[in-house]
Amino acid sequence: MKYYVNEDCIGCGLCAGTCPEVFEMGEEGMAVAITDDVDESVMEEAETAMNECPVAAIQQQ
Ligand code: SF4
Repeated sequence: MKYYVNEDCIGCGLCAGTCPEVFEMGEEGMAVAITDDVDESVMEEAETAMNECPVAAIQQQ
């Protein structure tokens, strides 16, 4: 399972706070997801981050 942050991101920081193993804030203030498969140990947090994103900018690949 991989995640992708699309251009709808408003840079609120919620995903990086919820699951820093997968999401971090990039140089332009928007979130970026790691390119690797999400480790099973943080899968639940990553899914929570996706579901709680206020603009639904996080997608699964
Ligand atoms: S939670 Fe959504 S809007 Fe907020 S930083 Fe993450 S991807 Fe962007």
